[in-house]
Amino acid sequence: MTESVDAMRIRELVDLINHYDRLYYVEAQPEIPDADYDILLRELQALEAKYPHLIEAMSPTQSPGTMAEAFSPVTHRQRMQSLDNSFSFEELGEWAARVAKGIGGGDIAYTCELKIDGVACSLRYEKGVLVQAATRGDGKVGEDITANVRGIKVIPHKLKGDHIPDVVEVRGEIYMPISQFEALNEAQEAAGLKRYANPRNTTAGSLRQKDAAVSASRGMAFWAYQMGILEGGPALALHSEALDYMASLGLPVNPERSVANSLEEAKSYIDNWLKHRHDIDYEIDGAVLKVDSLEQQNAVGSTSRAPRWAIAYKYPPEEKTTLLHDIAVSIGRTGKATPFAVLEPVFVGGSTVSMATLHNKDQVELKDVHPGDTVIVRKAGDVIPEVVGPVVSQRPKDLPTWQFPSDCTVCAEPLTRPEGEVHMFCTNFACPGQLQARISYFTSRGAMDIEGFGESTVALFLKLGLIKDVADIYFLDWDKVAALEGFGATSVSNLQAAIKTSKSRPLHNFLVALGIKHLGPTGAQLITETFGNLDRIMDASAEEIAAIEGIGPKIAQSVADFFDGPYAAQIMPRFKEAKLALEGPQRSEEPQTLTGMSIVVTGSLDGFGRKEAGEAIKARGGKNPGSVSKKTTFVVLGADPGASKLTKATDLGIATINEAQFVKLLETGDPEI
Ligand code: NAD
Repeated sequence: MTESVDAMRIRELVDLINHYDRLYYVEAQPEIPDADYDILLRELQALEAKYPHLIEAMSPTQSPGTMAEAFSPVTHRQRMQSLDNSFSFEELGEWAARVAKGIGGGDIAYTCELKIDGVACSLRYEKGVLVQAATRGDGKVGEDITANVRGIKVIPHKLKGDHIPDVVEVRGEIYMPISQFEALNEAQEAAGLKRYANPRNTTAGSLRQKDAAVSASRGMAFWAYQMGILEGGPALALHSEALDYMASLGLPVNPERSVANSLEEAKSYIDNWLKHRHDIDYEIDGAVLKVDSLEQQNAVGSTSRAPRWAIAYKYPPEEKTTLLHDIAVSIGRTGKATPFAVLEPVFVGGSTVSMATLHNKDQVELKDVHPGDTVIVRKAGDVIPEVVGPVVSQRPKDLPTWQFPSDCTVCAEPLTRPEGEVHMFCTNFACPGQLQARISYFTSRGAMDIEGFGESTVALFLKLGLIKDVADIYFLDWDKVAALEGFGATSVSNLQAAIKTSKSRPLHNFLVALGIKHLGPTGAQLITETFGNLDRIMDASAEEIAAIEGIGPKIAQSVADFFDGPYAAQIMPRFKEAKLALEGPQRSEEPQTLTGMSIVVTGSLDGFGRKEAGEAIKARGGKNPGSVSKKTTFVVLGADPGASKLTKATDLGIATINEAQFVKLLETGDPEI
C-alpha cells in the first residue's frame, strides 16, 4: 500500500471515528456495536504507528472521547484518561514487557479490577462534602453533572471515617444494574415505548437528562476505581491502598478486586471473570490491570490518551452486526405471536446466533428494522438474543418495511391484540402452533425437565400422532416409538427413564409446566408453599390465591380460571392417572437449620445447581448473597471457585467448607468442620 493511499484511509478513519464518537459520547445513541468501533480504532492506531507524521490533532487516538455541551463545562484539574486495550494474552504480555522495561527492573504487582461497562465520572469532595461531579469529556474538559449524580443513592454526599482529606477527586464508573435495566425495559415495553439497547447506553442517556428527578428514577449506581487529586490525605504508596482508602471513606469500591504478584496470577483473574461475568448484577466488558506501585506508575507515565501503567483486557463482545434475512413470527404456548429475526449466523456472546427476538409488533415498528438491514444483535449471558436495531447508514436503498401478519402463521385464524396488551395473540386454543409450544414448554428445563424430549421430538411425535396433548407424554406407545428412525434401544430407555423421573418433580415445577398465563416460577413456588398439594390449589378461589403475599390479582385470576376451564378438566385427571407425585413441599417443612446464617456458594457443586443451592439455603432460613462480606458465615467451595470470593474469604478469615460439609450444614446447621 502506498503512503498516499494510507493517508487517505487515515483521513477517512478520523472522520468516521469522530462521527461515531459523537453519536456515542454526545448523543448517547451509538449506531454500531463497540466491537466494530474497536476494529476501526485499531486500524487507525496501526496506520498512525506506521506514519507518525500523519497523526492529526483531531485524531480520536489523541484524546479519550469527545466533549459534549449539554451541561456547563468543567475543566479537570487532573486529566481524565481512557485505557489502552488488549484482546489476547499475547498482547497483554507485550504490555507487561513494555512496563517492565519502563520501570527498569524489580518485581511488579498488578491490581486486577473488573472493567465496568458504564460512563466515567469524576467526583470532587471538599472537606468531605460532594461539591462537583463531571463527565470525562475529552479528558481535559468534561460536563457538570452534579445534579444528576446527587440522585445516585450509592454515592455519598458526605464522606465518613477518621481520615477525611481536604480535597479528593474520585474517578469511577456510573453504571446501571442489570436488574434495574431489565425492569426499565419491561416498563418501556408495557408503555408501548422503545426498549433501551443496553445498560451502558441507558446510563449515558440517563445522565444526559436535564431533569435530575428523571435521572434519579433510573436507579443507577457507581464503582470508584481510581483516585485523582488528593490533598490532606494519608501518604499512599499503592493503588490498592488508594482503593481501600476510598472504601474507608464510604465510597463504593468494587469488592471483586485483587492484587496479583505475577502476570500469571493476573491471567487467572481474567480467565475466572470471563467465566463468571454473568454472575454479577452489572455488565463488565473486560478486566483492568494496573501497576500497583504508584512509584512504578510514575516511572512508566502516560500518553495524552491513556496511562501506560494500566491496560484493559477486553472480553469477547456481546453485540455484533449481521444481516437480517427475514422477520418471522412464532406462536407461543399462550398464543402469543412473537416476531423474531432470521439472521445470517453470527458468533456473539459465546455462541452462534441465527435467530433473535424482536419482542412484539410495537418494537419492530419502533426499532424500524427491515428485512435486508444490517442489524445489531445482542446476546448477554443466558438472556435470549435480541435485535437492538438497524445500522441505518448501511441500509440498502428502497428497502421495504415489514408488516406484522394479520393472521396466525400456523393456523391462519386472525391475530388479536387484547386491550392493555403489548402482544398480538392467536386465540385459537386448538392451534397446532400453541399445542406444540405448550408441550415443549412442559418438557423443558425449568418445568418438568424431561431430557431428550426437546422441541424436535415434540414436533415429530405430534406429526406422527403419537401425542395429541401434553398428558399423552405419560401414555406413549413405546413399540411405535422404538420403531422410529433414530430411536434405538438406549435412547428409548433413556427417554422412558426421563419421563418416569419427571413424575416426581416438585409440584411447583408442574405448576410452571402447565404454562398458565402470567404464572412464573416464583408465583408457582408461593402457591405451592401455601397450599401444599394440587387438589387444594385446584379448589382455591382467585381470592384465596390473591391472599398470598407476592401474588397479584392478575396471576390469581389466571390460575383460578385455568383450573376452572375445560382444558384443565380434560388433562388433570390424566396426570393423576399417570401417578405424578404432585405434592408440596409446603413452606415450613424444611427444618430452619440456617436461621441467622449467611452462606455464599462459589464454583460448581456436584449435587446442586447454583440456583438449587441458593434455594436450599433460603428454604432453611439462611441468606444466600452473591458476594462475601464480613457478615458471611461460611463460603461453600465447589469445583473451580471464584478467585476473588476465595481471596475475600481468606482476607476476612471466613471459614470455607466443601460440598459434603455443606450437606451436613443444611441438615443440622453445623458443617462439622
Ligand atoms: P474504554 O472502554 O476503552 O476503557 C476506558 C474506560 O474504562 C475508562 O475511561 C473508564 O471509564 C472505564 N473503566 C471501567 N472500569 C474501570 C476500571 N476498573 N479502571 C479504570 N477504568 C475503568 O472506554 P472509552 O475510552 O470510554 O471508550 C472507548 C470504547 O468505547 C471503545 O473501545 C468502544 O468500545 C466504545 N465506543 C463505542 C462507540 C460506538 O459507536 N459503538 C463509539 C465510541 C466508543
